[in-house]
Amino acid sequence: MYEAEREFALNVAAQACRLAREVQNEIVAAADALTKGDRSPVTMADLAIQAVVSQRLAEVFPADHLLAEEDTGALKDSPAMATKVLNLSRKAVPDFSAESLATALDRGNYHGGGTDRYWVLDPVDGTKGFLRGQHYAVALALVDRGQVVVGVLGCPNLEVEPGNPEAGIGCLFIAVRSQGTAVRAVDGGDERAIHTDRITDPSHAVMCESVESAHAAHSEHGAISAMLGITADPYRIDSQCKYAIVGRGEASIYLRLPSTKGYREKVWDHAAGALVIEEAGGMVTDLDGNRLDLTSGRFVSNQRGIIATNGNFHQEVLDAAREVRS
Ligand code: AMP
Ligand code: MG
Repeated sequence: MYEAEREFALNVAAQACRLAREVQNEIVAAADALTKGDRSPVTMADLAIQAVVSQRLAEVFPADHLLAEEDTGALKDSPAMATKVLNLSRKAVPDFSAESLATALDRGNYHGGGTDRYWVLDPVDGTKGFLRGQHYAVALALVDRGQVVVGVLGCPNLEVEPGNPEAGIGCLFIAVRSQGTAVRAVDGGDERAIHTDRITDPSHAVMCESVESAHAAHSEHGAISAMLGITADPYRIDSQCKYAIVGRGEASIYLRLPSTKGYREKVWDHAAGALVIEEAGGMVTDLDGNRLDLTSGRFVSNQRGIIATNGNFHQEVLDAAREVRS
């Protein structure tokens, strides 16, 4: 099942990673010239990747919808940005015109929910990390009949083999429901199945969380870790790379407790990542222990906080979180 979709997701994510890399390399090279707070490089990468993925989807799976983060708003405001996005996206889709690019971008406005098949895209997840020259991810998932069935995470700055930079930088994590999760280098090569770690004593766990304290409650994560007896420092990393590192056992727990009252998580921030962990043997729920509802619309519905683990002590982490929150 889903062989063609898996192949498509891998190829288009690899292409997206290459576009994002080009832009991030330019930022790093121009670090002195860029004014702090200038988000235009990430806007350019975001829009170009969304347009390219949307265009490829329209060619390969014309009946499928796309629910994606961006739209043409930023292009309408800035002709200079429109030109940059067109030039970048033409590296992947040479015959894009301004019009066909805008059409492709706006095809990402699907509302989600229902029984139709649709893809969920975050073209550049972890924009803060992207702008800092650090980690970010391209995240693409397929929802079929109300279930996330394929998820790919492109992590252009993650080591293919943890702790062994010689093996290359930049990997793609691919999960298909009931078929497991695998990793391969962005630039090609063999796939390798991955699994969450086998730690059963939570005090031996490494907990990962956002770099940005505005996105998750670091102090509550610290209290939960202390209650579980965790002594290792938190592993802070931007984007859905957190799901990937738990999926391959570099960390055993990912905590994302709300730091902003009333914030509603977006489906494109979790759909691909949650499947990557689940198919690698782990568990992903909200604070109440319910699986995330990622297929009802653009938001994750009825959810407070996210807890992902290797699957061996999920209930203990939920209990600790409940105690800290009460
Ligand atoms: P991270 O890289 O884990 O910090 O998460 C990045 C994602 O956080 C972005 O894609 C945003 O959609 C999302 N985000 C933005 N504001 C918040 C917030 N207040 N709480 C949680 N997530 C947020
Ligand atoms: Mg995001």
